Amino acid sequence: MHFTFLGSAGALPARDRDTTSIVFVGDGDAVLIDCGGSPMQKLLRAGVTRDALRRVIITHMHTDHAYGLPSLVETLYLLGRRAPLRLACREEHEQPLRTLLGVFRQLERPGIFPIVWELVPAREGFALPALGSFAVSSSPNAHGSMPNVAVRLILAHIDVAHHGELDAHRDEARAHFAGEVEVAQELVPYPL
Ligand SMILES: [Zn+2]
Repeated sequence: MHFTFLGSAGALPARDRDTTSIVFVGDGDAVLIDCGGSPMQKLLRAGVTRDALRRVIITHMHTDHAYGLPSLVETLYLLGRRAPLRLACREEHEQPLRTLLGVFRQLERPGIFPIVWELVPAREGFALPALGSFAVSSSPNAHGSMPNVAVRLILAHIDVAHHGELDAHRDEARAHFAGEVEVAQELVPYPL
């Protein structure tokens, strides 16, 4: 297993750092957490091919975490993907994401691969359906007024916790996850 940052700059891209996104690569499959700019190019650099990506998790609906999703879906379609893609998000964000993908007719276009929605409730330790190399569970964490989700991935004996974004509740959120590897974004003031 390895993981690669597709970006690590928080909400503000810099010259050499795109908005935050991480891909976890297992035994022939991969999970992407958040989706910023030019995702497919960076996935390919990380060794993730068209069908290897099994699940995308959008931690919350701030622009920098979700705006690359239509680009990713379109690219996978153009590459000929037919396998379903699981899309996990907070329950509150299903409709905004459907609207985002709907702008480009990516939900009902003939021949496009199906998206399997995985709606995450605001519940501690919610487990997503078992899939591939990773067991994934989630817990809500605070990000101002924005519903947000922290994610834990477990592969064999490697345990990785990823927080979408944290604010004053950082310590509280950390208490939920004592992973061997922990990834937490630096905070950028966000007006929402
Ligand atoms: Zn945010």
